[in-house]
This record gives sequence, structure tokens and C-alpha cells, in this order.
Amino acid sequence: MSTLKFAVLPGDGIGPEVMQVALNVLNVVAEKHQLQLDFQQADVGGIAIDNHGQALPNSTLEVCREADAILFGSVGGPKWESLPPKEQPERAALLPLRKAFSLYANIRPGLLYPELTEASPLKTDRIPNGIDIVCIRELTGGIYFGQPKETTSLDDGDIQAVDTMVYKKSEIERIADVAIATARSRGKRLCSVDKANVLETSVLWRKTVSEYIAEKAPELELSHMYVDNAAMQLVRDPNQFDVLFTENMFGDILSDEMAVICGSLGMLASASLGAGENSLGHPFGLFEPAGGTAPDIAGKNLANPSAQILSAAMMLRYSFGLEEAAAQIENAVETAVKGGTRTSDIAFGRDAASTTDMEKAIIAAL
Ligand code: NAD
Repeated sequence: MSTLKFAVLPGDGIGPEVMQVALNVLNVVAEKHQLQLDFQQADVGGIAIDNHGQALPNSTLEVCREADAILFGSVGGPKWESLPPKEQPERAALLPLRKAFSLYANIRPGLLYPELTEASPLKTDRIPNGIDIVCIRELTGGIYFGQPKETTSLDDGDIQAVDTMVYKKSEIERIADVAIATARSRGKRLCSVDKANVLETSVLWRKTVSEYIAEKAPELELSHMYVDNAAMQLVRDPNQFDVLFTENMFGDILSDEMAVICGSLGMLASASLGAGENSLGHPFGLFEPAGGTAPDIAGKNLANPSAQILSAAMMLRYSFGLEEAAAQIENAVETAVKGGTRTSDIAFGRDAASTTDMEKAIIAAL
């Protein structure tokens, strides 16, 4: 019997509610696949500020270090919004976690089942079969981290701010490996997004990607697109893409655009994979829903648990190498949703099924 050792950080708002459902689903799957769940729960975000004085206490970091993966809920809420920006739960918890585990590869599936096309802001005739794409975003380089990063007062009384965009060839090849693996497991088409007509980092990005894919994965169909065009093409015809992959800031913007055209925040999961291997020889990763803590519905049994459950499925796939168990969870969510158990996600109307109804439908479909 294999043991799955992971940290559980539910966070704030709907985080603990949807996390409990994900754990219940994992328990059922573990029994079916003879897996032993060995997880430890720890505070993160606002609740950690309340209980320990900081959003990411050392004790929580320690729990993560001893684990092979992190299942994360979401953090933040009105109670902590008046704190200085550097102490805000998201910034003070998620960014240090990414840094501590060198989580350089963000994988976000953009999935909209055909039965839910009405939930998308796009015209349904543009997406008759729903949406099925993946965005791979580089997460630890680029303009968010490059130095110098500062605001200075100039001699003439003006004020100047500088951010610096930096990429190394090795960083680009590292994320290209993740894009290659993802494309190989899907439609074998990669679209690399950059701004090579203006930015030096993009010129290096495009050259590196072209040479690397030609050498390592010549069987894949590779195309390049400028980011402004990619933003337009995503709303014009999202399914022209199979796997989009891009640098940090472009990926930040495009993956949120992708989330919105998929209609429902409550359905979207994500994985952030680290540079190191876990004790099982798989990538260490942090797995979390795309949405936030939804304070407007917290505590009302209204939250859609699907994104948290699908994040748990991604954890099984990437950090534990359990493809079959992961697919079983994904199929169960799909069956439940297609069967008509639509959660009370804002996209589907608040009068739809409750969190517990959704849990029952998914567990019944496992
Ligand atoms: P949000 O994603 O929490 O909510 C936006 C809307 O989507 C709300 O109407 C909410 O009810 C709905 N929604 C989100 N997830 C849902 C789900 N699973 N089921 C049903 N409906 C769902 O974004 P926001 O309102 O901008 O932010 C609220 C708080 O969450 C803020 O404190 C913000 O900082 C934090 N946040 C955290 C993360 C994170 O932890 N990664 C991400 C985004 C926002």
C-alpha cells in the first residue's frame, strides 16, 4: 500500500469548506486504490495571522517541507484587507511558498464542459463543444522578480519607478520541458507566446523555444504568437490552442482571461510544480483552485468544491504519479456536472445545488 504524504493548507473563507469535500473524495479514492493518506493540516493566510501573527508561520512551512506535495485552499478576506500590502495574506503566504519550493511551473487547465457553455461570456456558437486548453506559465522569473525593482526621486523633482524583466536560457528550457510533457499527453500542439517584436527577453524566449523543441520534441507542432494577438485569439476562438505556454507576466494575464472564458471560477484547478523532486521521485507541487476565498458565500454551503477536488486530482497525477486515480476523480466531477448537479457557483445561479449535494453526486460517480 503506497502512502501519500501531503500538507493540507485550507486557508480562509470557503477554503476549509471545499478542502473538507476534497479530502472526503480523496478518502474514497484512496480506499479504491489501496492508498494510505498521510496528511497534516496547518494554518495559512488570515487564520494564520490570527493564530500565529504571520500569514506563513514557520510551523506551517515545516509541515510543507516534510510533505511530498501541498494541497492549498485559498487565503484572504475582508478581515485582513486593511493590513499593509506586504502583510496581506495572499502576498505574505503564497509568494513565499512559491519561493521556498522554487515553484517555477504553473499549469492551469481551461476546461468548460459542452453542457456548461452558457456559463461562458463567449457566444455559445464559438464554443459548441466547450473549451479544453491548458496554459503553462513560468512562475519564478521575469518582470515580477528581476532586479532592480525600485522607485526613486529624480534630481528634477520627478519620480521614477523601474521593474526589470530577466530570463535565462536555462529557465526557458526548464519550462519548455513542462510544456513538452503536457503537449505530449494531449493534442501535441504547442503555442509559445511572447513579444519578440519588442522585448529582448522574448527574442531569447523564441529562439530558445524553437531550438529546444526542434531538438527534444520534433514530433510536436510548435507555433509562436505575440501576446497581444494571443489575448485576442483566446476570445475569438479558444480551441485553436491546445497548450499555450509563456513567461510569467503574460501567463498571469492570459491564464486569468482563460479562466473567465471558461465561465466558472469554481471549476478551475491549478498546479505549481517545483524544481526539486519529492521523496517519491516526482515533482514537488502546490495544488490550488484558481478562485479566491469567496467571502460573499463563505459558511453558506454554497461554494462549488469542484476546483478544489480537481486540484487534488492534479496532485495525484503530478506529485504522486497516480494517473488512473486522478482521471477517476476528473471523470466523477464531469459525470456529476453533466448529470445536472450544478453547484451554486455564481456562473450557474445561486439557486443551484449546495456544496453537500455536489459532494454526494461526485462521490456517487467515483
Ligand atoms: P473570489 O475568487 O474569491 O470570488 C469572486 C466571485 O466568484 C465571488 O462572487 C465568489 O462567490 C465566486 N466564487 C469564487 N470561487 C467560487 C466557488 N468555488 N464556488 C462558487 N462561487 C465562487 O475573488 P475576490 O472576491 O476578488 O477575492 C476574495 C478574497 O480572496 C480576497 O481576499 C482575495 O485576496 C482572495 N483571493 C485569494 C486567492 C488565493 O488564495 N489564491 C486568489 C484570488 C483571490
